[in-house]
Amino acid sequence: MIREQLDHPIHTLPGVGPKTAEKLAAQGILSVGDVLNTTPRTYEDRRFLVPLAAAAQSLPPAPPVPVVTVVEIIDHVFFGPKGHLKIIIRDSSTTAALVCFGRNFLAQSLPIGRLFLVAGNFSVRYHEIQTSAFETEPLPAPLVHEWTQLIHGESRARPVDGPGKQIPRTRQFGMLLPRYPNLAGLGEQKIRTMVHKALDLYGKNLEDPLPTEVLKQHHLPPYNHALTNLHQGQNSQEIQQAHKRMVYQELFLLQLNLAYQAYQRRTVKGSPKPPVQETTGPDYTRQVLNSLPYTLTNDQKTVLEELNREVAGPVPMARLIQGDVGSGKTVVALLACARMAELGRQSVLMAPTELLARQHANTAHAMLAPAGLTVAFLSGSLNGKARTMLLQELAAGNIHLLVGTHAVFTRDVEFQNLGLSIVDEQHRFGVNQRTALVKKGEGVHLLLMSATPIPRTLAMTVYGDLLISTISEKPAGRKPVETHLARMGNEQKVYDFVRRQLEQGWQAYFVYPRIDDQDNSEPVGDAPAEKSPIKSAEAMAELLSSQVYRDYRVGLIHGQMKDEEKIATMAAFSQGEIRVLVSTTVVEVGVDVANATCMVIEHAERFGLAALHQLRGRVGRSALQSYCFLVYAEPLTEIAVQRLKILKESNDGFLLAEKDLELRGPGDIQGIQQSGFLKFTFADLSRDMGLMNLARKDAFALMDKDPGLADHHWLKWLVS
Ligand code: ADP
Ligand code: MG
Repeated sequence: MIREQLDHPIHTLPGVGPKTAEKLAAQGILSVGDVLNTTPRTYEDRRFLVPLAAAAQSLPPAPPVPVVTVVEIIDHVFFGPKGHLKIIIRDSSTTAALVCFGRNFLAQSLPIGRLFLVAGNFSVRYHEIQTSAFETEPLPAPLVHEWTQLIHGESRARPVDGPGKQIPRTRQFGMLLPRYPNLAGLGEQKIRTMVHKALDLYGKNLEDPLPTEVLKQHHLPPYNHALTNLHQGQNSQEIQQAHKRMVYQELFLLQLNLAYQAYQRRTVKGSPKPPVQETTGPDYTRQVLNSLPYTLTNDQKTVLEELNREVAGPVPMARLIQGDVGSGKTVVALLACARMAELGRQSVLMAPTELLARQHANTAHAMLAPAGLTVAFLSGSLNGKARTMLLQELAAGNIHLLVGTHAVFTRDVEFQNLGLSIVDEQHRFGVNQRTALVKKGEGVHLLLMSATPIPRTLAMTVYGDLLISTISEKPAGRKPVETHLARMGNEQKVYDFVRRQLEQGWQAYFVYPRIDDQDNSEPVGDAPAEKSPIKSAEAMAELLSSQVYRDYRVGLIHGQMKDEEKIATMAAFSQGEIRVLVSTTVVEVGVDVANATCMVIEHAERFGLAALHQLRGRVGRSALQSYCFLVYAEPLTEIAVQRLKILKESNDGFLLAEKDLELRGPGDIQGIQQSGFLKFTFADLSRDMGLMNLARKDAFALMDKDPGLADHHWLKWLVS
């Protein structure tokens, strides 16, 4: 098969009607390729006999035992006031019951005296071995004689351990049965059939996108074998090999994509020549620097020099500034915008939320406007005439810096001469989004900022060819935030402490894991199921404002509020009208109110280390001594205990990231994977870093050999 067939729409598969196709499309499954990439969640071993007696010892709470056997139906019993059906079965080892709540029709399909293959999770309840979740298939006729003898002849005292007899191969028995996610409520059998059709029609002769040498070197099976074994593998080795191949392919394509982007960046047409003569225009950078009420730290100076050198060079820059919260990344980025303006080019700064974008716009305006630079703000909520005017000014080159949310991607947003794209909290955006911004001009420099410290080895591999600058030094005069732990029940002491801070004129944040008491969202973190109710932001805002801090204005902010409301509340908080801000993790990223000295996080055991550190970074943003209180509810898991201890002991985000890695594998990797920045079908970076490194080496080697991928059409098609 040729690669285009992978793109065939799913309704070309026999048995997939328009209704099914529509349902699957809603889940992102559009093509034959998508079907083939639907990975089984797990595989159920139905190859060997596991008799009913294997479940004879499994009394709840012991887990039920997966049984695979051949049974004779010996009776139908109706029980309870509603007359539910119970089907009594027997295999070579013992008898048991299939409980059919609300499925009395099964009496017809499972008649007394006949033999069936049965699989289900059995346990002992009400003094019998039973299950209510089971699957059956009629035993094929030619086998009935043999199995009848087996069931009848040796019904007593069969050994229950040791390798079982082979189960006959049927549609769902006698194999490692792939279990698929129940996509779009279609039912697993339907998915399974669809996958098999796709394999039969297209999968078997599929060409291999990966270079043969690479496959040989890593002992990976060819694509068609891998796909077949992924769905129909008959032993764990086949399945593992298939998985490994798919993981490798996914990582190889990611790396090749990064390598290819880097290649394109280097060879981009219309890359502006560096300005030979120093600019004659106004010296914006100097003016802005002189107006700052502080001097830059050494790290900031170093990074700014790097940036200034690169943005004036012929090759478009691609650089990431990593720096802990509050380390002063934004200031440096804005200075780079001033430099861009000197070079006669515009800049754009994009942030993941409207709140953050607006805050950046305010900061940028305050910093740049006095020097004569124009800053504008664009978000999805700007409409009509105001928007049209803004776009005109932008296209005419009268705006030096545009700050906004992803609204800045919109097609009609045009620059006269875009030179620099800055993306804040870049891990919240996908790879494609960040390159989209670069396409709004020619030879646009790319600057990413991230406060999520990720270990260097990983940064290298997931950011491709980005150069990384690190700001690790905090601005002078900053005192480290003091962190205290408090057990739930002792929070009054914390509240009293915060009151004394409020009395001195300072402000406080209170953060909760839930919006309201109805909020059933999955708890964050890995805390055990809670016995006592979980405090919510809404309920606590009520309590804090009506009782604890009656004499202060208390505000509430959470993710389900309208943007205008959030913005108004944030504005009131930064102006000091609201003194206590109660929230969910929406304040996690970037919010900057220097007058706030207290961060109280209740149910701290429910947040991950990175989130806690980000939250704590909201305070300690001035020369004032700040405090963070981690209020935890018991019982704590061992990991939660470690996490809180580490936080109490360290203020260094990079150190914390490393510790987090040690504690529970690459925790931040999970966060990054979930954020959509890296979404994998097969790979899991907490397991597959080894393969990632191999794939990277191979992909970059291939790009060296065939830079434009002229000899690798399929690969080129896959990565561009
Ligand atoms: P980040 O973007 O890394 O979180 P910001 O650039 O927003 O950090 O800076 C955090 C705060 O510190 C801001 O209020 C900023 O004005 C201030 N700041 C930045 N650099 C310095 C410095 N060198 N000295 C003192 N304050 C600084
Ligand atoms: Mg920031």
